[in-house]
Amino acid sequence: MEQIDLKSLTLEELQEELVRRGEKAFRAEQLYQWMHEKLAEDFSEMTNLPKAFREWLETEYEYVTLEIVEVRRSKLDGTCKYLFRLPDGHVIESVLMRYHHGNSVCISSQVGCRMGCRFCASAIGGLERNLRPSEMLEQIYRIQTDSGERVSNVVVMGTGEPLDNYDNLVRFIRLLTHEKGLNISQRNVTVSTCGIVPGIERLSEENLAITLALSLHAVTQEKRRELMPIANRYGLEEVLRACGDYFRKTGRRLTLEYSLVAGANDSTEDARELAKLAGLLHAHVNLIPVNPVTERDFVRPREKIIDNFKKNLENCGINATLRREMGRDIDGACGQLRRKYMKRSGKGGDEC
Ligand code: SAH
Repeated sequence: MEQIDLKSLTLEELQEELVRRGEKAFRAEQLYQWMHEKLAEDFSEMTNLPKAFREWLETEYEYVTLEIVEVRRSKLDGTCKYLFRLPDGHVIESVLMRYHHGNSVCISSQVGCRMGCRFCASAIGGLERNLRPSEMLEQIYRIQTDSGERVSNVVVMGTGEPLDNYDNLVRFIRLLTHEKGLNISQRNVTVSTCGIVPGIERLSEENLAITLALSLHAVTQEKRRELMPIANRYGLEEVLRACGDYFRKTGRRLTLEYSLVAGANDSTEDARELAKLAGLLHAHVNLIPVNPVTERDFVRPREKIIDNFKKNLENCGINATLRREMGRDIDGACGQLRRKYMKRSGKGGDEC
């Protein structure tokens, strides 16, 4: 029988579970604190719990921790890329980025991805499986322990489509922002989606103060479909309407992500249209010059074109940030370190 994954339980569920098994309710709070605040790597660290209780936990339950396979540190900007091994042997990657305003961790939400965006390295091998809440939390917990630095921001922008793993995602956010855990402010959590409309609608009802980022990448349905197959399922108009509703319901400003691809979406006309859409949604725009992916032939526009694109947005009154690729020297772009690892170790990384 599958064991219960303790780190994915809410405090209330943990209390219920332990009481059901004849333990005292206060033990749940102690255990919760060891897992989510002190970030214990195993039961043996939990010194204020009786030894017999710890041994019983060990045999009865699953305690998920991630193993660090590799850490690469960028000499350019201090960005660290982590490659982790999950309990079942799959590997995933996460990134620690150091900003003036604090440390930000970019986590994966799935092993692989089934959304198939044309420019994305994560999409190449398809979806292996969803990550559990504990496996999403552990990426942050291990990075905080390994670096010895507090993580204040979390972006769900690594491998995977978070809204394709909806229940685990929402549970993860509640655990991450729980006052008896790391207690990260919901305002400092960003979830990025390729545009799964029912997921956006559900998320707007969760009463969460997180930031929603929409990966837009194109301003017409026609062009978007060419880059992102999900647009065949949920058209541009429908996605924009769902985002508008999200803003109205939650009062949270949206972010539009826009990967600039030379000759595909970088014209003056594109910039004007993007400014119009961002204005209607009261959204901030993040411009990301497309990261070259070995298996793909998308190229980023020349510097001058990128600068002009940004200026065109600003001239229309739109706030735009140009996201310089962080950790360029350490395979900073999404999914690339994992793919290289899989190729090296012959784990099906080069089937395409
Ligand atoms: N599935 C989610 C989150 C993961 S991808 C989403 O689609 O938003 C995080 C962001 O990186 C998305 O905006 C995605 O479109 C973008 N991205 C993926 N590959 C990229 C590349 N090669 N260059 C630039 N941006 C890329």
